[in-house]
Amino acid sequence: MSNALVAKYGEARLPRYTSYPTAPAFAASVGPEDYSQALAAATAGAPVSLYLHMPFCRSMCWYCGCHTTITRHDGPILDYLDVMSREIELVAKEAHGEIPVKNVHFGGGTPTIMKPHEFSALMKTLRTSFAFARDTSVAVEIDPRTLAGEMMIALGENGVDRVSLGVQSFDPVVQKAINRIQTFGQTEAAVAGLRSRGVSSTNFDLIYGLPFQTVGSCVETVRMAIDLRPERFAVFGYAHVPAFKKHQRLIDESALPGAAERNEQAEAIAEELVSAGYIRIGLDHFALPDDELALAARSGTLRRNFQGYTTDECETLIGLGASSIGRLPSGYYQNHVAIGRYAEMVSLGLLPTAKGYLLTREDKLRAKVIERLMCDFEVDIAGLCREAGYDAGFLLERNPRFDDLVADGVAAIAGGRITVSKDLRFMVRAVAAAFDAYFGALGRTHSKAA
Ligand code: SF4
Repeated sequence: MSNALVAKYGEARLPRYTSYPTAPAFAASVGPEDYSQALAAATAGAPVSLYLHMPFCRSMCWYCGCHTTITRHDGPILDYLDVMSREIELVAKEAHGEIPVKNVHFGGGTPTIMKPHEFSALMKTLRTSFAFARDTSVAVEIDPRTLAGEMMIALGENGVDRVSLGVQSFDPVVQKAINRIQTFGQTEAAVAGLRSRGVSSTNFDLIYGLPFQTVGSCVETVRMAIDLRPERFAVFGYAHVPAFKKHQRLIDESALPGAAERNEQAEAIAEELVSAGYIRIGLDHFALPDDELALAARSGTLRRNFQGYTTDECETLIGLGASSIGRLPSGYYQNHVAIGRYAEMVSLGLLPTAKGYLLTREDKLRAKVIERLMCDFEVDIAGLCREAGYDAGFLLERNPRFDDLVADGVAAIAGGRITVSKDLRFMVRAVAAAFDAYFGALGRTHSKAA
């Protein structure tokens, strides 16, 4: 792999494109009234997915890029759960008729910071407010360090069938440098316990590019993880943005690997996973061949949302909880990040929408192009343009960024179809950025591409 290309594109700060436009384009001019109208229009019979955000953790991992608050007390969590239950009822009232739910995802923070009976009560509120089916899938992000046996029982009893475990690195030196001590035994016990409670799909999150991480330590971690045979892996590069995440200043910058090393780590992890039988999916996911993520990748139906690559086909994702983002056919709607402001709005009987973005016809076209690139590494751009009522060459004319990528051999175009070079797939975000009308104009630093 060319180091010059790594330097030219890999060093650039590029969005992960879990949405288009990306969150920095959201504006406060979009508020509760817009969301109310959008909800009524979007939920007329079509199934939806729900995302619930639990913004609390017991201790801070220094690499963390999530919206979370550290608390040792249970009071703030209980108060928050009260507010979120009211928000669920509020949203259900705004929507017209019974809303069928296809998928539920609990993210954080640490969703399993809830007590088992609190989780069951929240699930009951959801089941009363929305229409659950026998095949509604419930996914929960898990912190193996604090997962108690009673909570595993509650997860199983409430129909949780998918979990995602934060693993990151098993290297004790790396763990100390990121303030996250997690033994292999804790992860192993969580996997065994959850499987015995009916969880059929387990994902592990791994991170490369952490302080003191080497290719060797990445390989050792992934080999240990493979022994537990999770159905999926998500492998992310650490995004060091201390200007936005103050706790990241606790990370020793001099111990961070450079761009070329990060790339070698990512490739070494990928090689281990592929030789262990996992299928490489999109930019950073891996799945066993019979996992539905692998099947979706094969059939061209893979999707991308705020949780990464997914098989979720619902056009409407309702976000619940502080900072959560909803994606509806009309646009994006984000709740207040500050828990106090979020709670205040809900207690006034108002939807807690802080900002959002209303999609234009052109945005929807660009979003489709970017999603297909991120999922398939190729896109029928002429076909999508025509389908949306534009000239076949609409997004390609006067696009010097894309011309540059073609000249460098990163992407190619033939017969109205763009393909990203297989060897340079880690640069797919650079190709996606060539179709992002906002790229470079929003003044926000994103994570490294490699
Ligand atoms: S457990 Fe997850 S959300 Fe909480 S601090 Fe660690 S990385 Fe962040």
